[in-house]
Parts: sequence; C-alpha cells; structure tokens
Amino acid sequence: MTHAWLFTGPPGSGRSLAARAFAAALLCERGGCGECPSCHQVAAGTHADVLLVRPDGLSYGVKQTRDLVLKAAAAPVYGRWRIVLFEDADRCTEQAANALLKAIEEPSPRTVWLLCAPYADDLPTTIRSRCRLVTLVTPRTAAVTEVLEREGVPPDRARAAALAAQGHIGRARRLATDEEAARRRAEVLRVPGRVSGLGEALRAAAALVKAAKAESDATTDELDAPEREALRRAFGEGSSGKGVATALRGGAGALRELEERQKSRATRLTRDSLDRALLDLAGYYRDVLAVQLGASVELANEARDVELRQLAAASGPADTVRRIEAIMRCRQRLEANAAPLLAVEELTLALAG
Ligand SMILES: [Zn+2]
Repeated sequence: MTHAWLFTGPPGSGRSLAARAFAAALLCERGGCGECPSCHQVAAGTHADVLLVRPDGLSYGVKQTRDLVLKAAAAPVYGRWRIVLFEDADRCTEQAANALLKAIEEPSPRTVWLLCAPYADDLPTTIRSRCRLVTLVTPRTAAVTEVLEREGVPPDRARAAALAAQGHIGRARRLATDEEAARRRAEVLRVPGRVSGLGEALRAAAALVKAAKAESDATTDELDAPEREALRRAFGEGSSGKGVATALRGGAGALRELEERQKSRATRLTRDSLDRALLDLAGYYRDVLAVQLGASVELANEARDVELRQLAAASGPADTVRRIEAIMRCRQRLEANAAPLLAVEELTLALAG
C-alpha cells in the first residue's frame, strides 16, 4: 500500500471528489459500495478516520500542519486506515510543506495521505517524488452538458453553461442554476466591447474589482458570523462563575486568531472571484482569436457569435494575442499580491490600447 497519493487536475475536474471516493473505498468492507454507513460517512465528511483538510485562507501554515501531522499519526478508530484528505495542498507554506514532507517520509503504518493540487508541479519535488500520482483530465463539454441535463437543466442552457465553464463542472452548474452568477459573467463579457478610451477602461476596471468584492462579501458574511458565534459560545460568553474570566481572556486571543483567518479567507475569495472573471475574459478573447484564424474549435461563447465577429474584424490576431497575454500577466500579478485595482486598471488599459 502506498502511503501518499497526489490527485491532480485543473479546478473543476473533481480531484477532491475522486480522492474522497478513494478514501471511501479504502475504508469500506466491500471495497467502496457507496451504500454502507462507512461510505456514507466518508461522503458526508463525518467519518472518524478521515481528516478533511481544506485550507480556507491564502496559505496553510506550519502550526496547522504540525497539528495535522500529530492527528494523522493516531491509530485509526475503526482499525483499517487513518486517512488525511488534503485539498489544495499547493497552498502549504514552505515550512508547512517541510512538516508535511517529514510525515510522508516516515508514515505511520496505518496512515494514508491523499493530497490534491491542480498540477503536480505545484508541490515541492521532495513531496511529489514520494507520492503516487493520480492525474485527472478536464471533462469534455458534452460530458458536462450531460451531467447538467441529468440534473434537470434544459439542454440549451446546459450546453451554454458547459461551454462557458470550459470543463469546470461546479462552475457550469453554478452558471446554469444561479441567475446572479450568470448575470455577473455577462457583465464581465461586456468589458471587451466597451473599453475604447482611457475613461472607459478605468471605469471597467473599477467595476470588475467592485463586483469581485461584492461576490466575496456575500459569501464571507454567510461564513463569518456563525464562526464568531460558535467561538463565543465555546469560551462560555454569557455564563458566569469561577474560571469564566480566565476563559474569556483566552477567548479574546482565539477571536483575534479567527478574525485573522477570516480576513485571509476574504482576501482569497475576492481574488478567486476576480480570477474567474479574468478567465472568462481570456476565454472570450480566445474565441475572438479562433474566429480571426478561422479555427474550427468549440467557442466558449458561441451564443455571442455576432459580437465576437465584430471584435474579430476590428482587430488583428496579434492584437488579440497581446490582450490574452495582458490578462495572464494580470492574473500572475494578483497571485503575487499586487493591489487588485492597480493590476486590473493596467489590464483594461492594455485591452483598450
Ligand atoms: Zn461501503
């Protein structure tokens, strides 16, 4: 039995679902029947022998990793395996990765590590070389369409969403079923037709950043309040008696730590939302390029055929390539912590030029 596995695949390819199914198979007495209590618990994320790790901030720190390594080393509750399913393992800081490496180098006999990351290269070679690699591919448009149709989405809508999401099932489902998400995407795709002068470019940048912030705020509010509430309760707020004052002092520290984590998560959610918008834009210009070159490929925005043709006729392939490169550069700058508005302004100016 290999003690460390690395599931890779682009976002939406279902790498953590695959890892979870594998965990269920390892723990199930019938090899992963999908019906027994054990399989149900793994699917629901409540199995006592599966530690689910999902970094929700910008990075996963060394302290968290050390705690995890300790927990992972404990004996399994039900006697088979102790499984750590580590989503987005690429978000480990360097020190965290070192702590993780030690655990993988000298694994406890009953512990199995399932790491998930977009690409194998996202992890340090030292870790990668000790893992057995499971590579998932991006599903084709037809496959994503079929899944959505089975879930009751009308065929036309399913196909449009599948094309727009470029193989990302979760995103396709969102676009097909959530009016607000579809509206936001449409708003983003108005940018190419609109940015012609300096003023328009700057306004478009401000609107893109504002929309990303609004999207992440909506999620953040939903997540933050219950967490703060749970923490307060855990530290006995509202009760009285001996020891409560001490507990509350400890609670203040924990609350600060929670707020730090929430802030980091909010930053990441905004960044993710902005990145989705940038990928939508890149897909749009890729369509423009395909039209300019007369390439017979699936267009992500085939419903916007007329617009695409207009834009394709108004510029040359070299302009389009330059614009796509500007988008990719902007994504890199955001990933490297550039101020979002500045980076996006630079982008929309490049799109206008
Ligand atoms: Zn089972």
